[in-house]
Amino acid sequence: MVQAGYAVTTHQRDADVIVVTTCAFLGSAVKESEEAIQSVLAARRPGQRVVVCGCLVERFGNRLRRRLPGIDLFVPLNRMPRLPALLATSDVSHPASDISHPPRLLSTPRHYAYLKIAEGCDNRCSYCLIPSIRGPRRSRPLAEVVAEAQSLARQGVRELILIAQDTTAYGIDSCSRPALPRLLRALAAIRGVRWLRLMYAHPAHVSQALLREFESNPRLCRYIDLPIQHSSSRLLSLMRRHYDREHLEQLIARLRRVPAMHIRTTLIVGFPGETEQEFEELLEFVRTARFDRLGAYGYSPEPGTRAARMSGQVPGPVKLERLGRLMRLQARVSREKLAALVGRNVLVLADDERTGRTQWDAPEIDGKVKFTRPVSPGSFVRCHVVRATTHDITAAPTRRASPKDKVQRTKQVERGKS
Ligand code: SF4
Repeated sequence: MVQAGYAVTTHQRDADVIVVTTCAFLGSAVKESEEAIQSVLAARRPGQRVVVCGCLVERFGNRLRRRLPGIDLFVPLNRMPRLPALLATSDVSHPASDISHPPRLLSTPRHYAYLKIAEGCDNRCSYCLIPSIRGPRRSRPLAEVVAEAQSLARQGVRELILIAQDTTAYGIDSCSRPALPRLLRALAAIRGVRWLRLMYAHPAHVSQALLREFESNPRLCRYIDLPIQHSSSRLLSLMRRHYDREHLEQLIARLRRVPAMHIRTTLIVGFPGETEQEFEELLEFVRTARFDRLGAYGYSPEPGTRAARMSGQVPGPVKLERLGRLMRLQARVSREKLAALVGRNVLVLADDERTGRTQWDAPEIDGKVKFTRPVSPGSFVRCHVVRATTHDITAAPTRRASPKDKVQRTKQVERGKS
């Protein structure tokens, strides 16, 4: 859009065209997307055009025209790169684009960026609509990902957050073998990039090579987002996750041997057929594994998935009650873990003058570091932790970090552990 001569504004009143990018993989995401669209329509001034693009369009297609009258243009995923041409013609039958990765315009703060390494998923978990919305996995060529990362680094990005539906399967389609460790090494060599963060690591695809990379790559944050979903082998099989409880126990134990490693996970409660005993076992698993970060949601039956047709659907109030118990348990674990940081030194990347993150926190989903005095946004700051709450810590900046601090910090944390 920028290349086509458009200027970007985040104020609706100033815009000639309002583009709403949507998510639709869960009922709650559909609701949120539709609410966002309705609020845009309610504030629309005469002459403004409203475009809806992304997964909502992919999931519901032409049915959206009836559900959302007043929209000028619906754009499915593969046509998003052709948005300027589509706006010129207002013709949605325009041929699909072959520009799969147009140039980036950063919408995150200047110092971090999400880097998409693959699109689509082949796992077909029984509760998930994403493969039918996003299609099969297509890993981006390594050279293309590295070139994008280099361009982001030149724009000032210091932290790259690797995303895909399943990052650990990167390369299996194009190279017939996992290529994530090779990609991580190539990204680590980019001048200016100091943190690499790995999100959405499928537990069935964490390779030995990746585990060694965590031990040897100084730029790879000692942080893994490992959505395990449940601990019951029976439910994991019904979910079609391709691993069982024993695999999880071994993997978590191996990850814990990586110095300073922090594990984030996601869990589903109330999956069809989940008994009270299986839920109790999940609580016990969480109590033992002591995940450093944890997100959970109540199972949502999505029409079109196998799981939605399964018998034994768990009533909503039971799901909510289980979710509450799980999150209260995790709050206790998190409080204890963060309290142990008080009195220690940590390296923090400042997201703004007042808050930042350690290498163990991803933006938007994990906790924050609150600074006791303002610092320069986008800088790495050495800090002394003075207070901790359930999810956040407060830290006093000691000085701006030098490039050598990353290595020193890792050594300090290792010494602290031993
Ligand atoms: Fe969906 Fe993730 Fe399973 Fe792929 S791995 S089917 S995106 S839940």
